[in-house]
Amino acid sequence: MHATPHAVSPPAPAASPRGGSRADIASWQRELARAIRDPAELCRVLGLDSALAAKAPPGFPLLVPRGFVARMEHGTPHDPLLRQVLPIADEAVERPGFTADPLHEATALAAPGLVQKYAGRALVLVSGACAVHCRYCFRREFPYADHGATLAGTEAAVEAIAADATLTEVILSGGDPLMADDARLAGLVQRLDAIPHLRRLRIHTRLPIVLPERVTDGLVATLAASRLSAVVVVHANHPAELDDRVAEALRRLAAAPALLFNQAVLLAGVNDAFEPLQSLSQRLVEIGVVPYYLHLLDRVRGAGHFEVSEARAHELHRQLRDALPGYAVPRLAREQPGEPAKVWLA
Ligand SMILES: *Cc1c(COP(=O)(O)O)cnc(C)c1O
Ligand code: SF4
Repeated sequence: MHATPHAVSPPAPAASPRGGSRADIASWQRELARAIRDPAELCRVLGLDSALAAKAPPGFPLLVPRGFVARMEHGTPHDPLLRQVLPIADEAVERPGFTADPLHEATALAAPGLVQKYAGRALVLVSGACAVHCRYCFRREFPYADHGATLAGTEAAVEAIAADATLTEVILSGGDPLMADDARLAGLVQRLDAIPHLRRLRIHTRLPIVLPERVTDGLVATLAASRLSAVVVVHANHPAELDDRVAEALRRLAAAPALLFNQAVLLAGVNDAFEPLQSLSQRLVEIGVVPYYLHLLDRVRGAGHFEVSEARAHELHRQLRDALPGYAVPRLAREQPGEPAKVWLA
C-alpha cells in the first residue's frame, strides 16, 4: 500500500532496450515473468494441499514472485506471507461496509492519472500493474485503465502539476510505479525536475520488498541525478519479508541518496500481534528504514477477513510505544474520504 494500490490487468512489462543495463532489465523482468500465477502451483511449491486456495476474481488473480515465496515457511498453511497473496474462500464473503471504492478514489482525480487529496502533494498513477497482488489491497477493485495509469495519462498529470504552483511534492504511485522501466522513469523524473515549484520526489512502492532485483543501477542513477529530494516509501507488513537481499537493495536506494520509510497495513492473521509488529520495526530500523505508518485496513470488498478492530489496533500500538524508541513506532493511521490528511489515530 503505497496508500495501497493495485492493478486491473496482469503485468506484462514492455522490455525496453534503453533503461539501465541489459543485465538489470533481464534480471528483474525475467523474475517477474517467472512469477507464480497458479494457486495450485503455489501450494505445491510450499508442500500444501491445493484445496487451501480458492478461485480468484478474474480482475485480481494470484500473482507472486518466486523470491517472495522463498521467504515463506514450507508446509505452513498459516504463513503470514502466504496469507497476503493466496486467494481463499473468505474473499467471496460479502460484508456490510466493504465496498469497491472505499476511498472514493474515482472522484479524487485532479487530471487523468493525477490524484490530489492533500495540500502540496499529488499522486501520479504511473503504472496500473504490480509485481504482487496483495489480497487486502484497496485498489483490487480500482479501474486503473479508466483513470490514466497510461503514458498519455502521465503526460496529462505532468502538465497539471506544472500548472499548479501550490504543489511541492510529487508522489509516484499506482499500482506500483516501479513497474515502469528505467527509461520511462528517467524521462518522467527529468520532466518533473524541470518544474520549478517542485522540491521533493516521493515513490510509493512494494517492489524493493517483493522483487529486490528492481533496484537497478539505472533507477539509483535516476534518483541521484534529480535535483529533487528523493523519498522512497516501501511497503512491508511482516519481518519475514525483509531478507538480506531486500536489505541490500534498500541500502543501494539509501545511497542514492533517498530517505526510506515503510508503511504497513494491520492485517488479521498476518501481523495483528505484538511480536511481529515489534520485530518488523526493529528490523526496519536495522536496515535503514523508518517505520512511517501502520494503516488500518481500507474496507474494500473481498478483504473483510483481514480486518482488525480499532480497539485492538490501539492496544497493539500502546504496546509498541511501551517497548520501542519513539522513532521506531509507526503512526497508526486510517484514510477517511474527504479529510484533509490521513487521520492519525495514535
Ligand atoms: C496517502 C496519500 C498521500 C500521502 O500522505 P502522507 O500523509 O503525506 O504520507 C498523498 N496523496 C494521496 C491521494 C494519498 O492517498
Ligand atoms: S503492491 Fe500490493 S498493496 Fe501495493 S498496490 Fe500492488 S496489490 Fe496493492
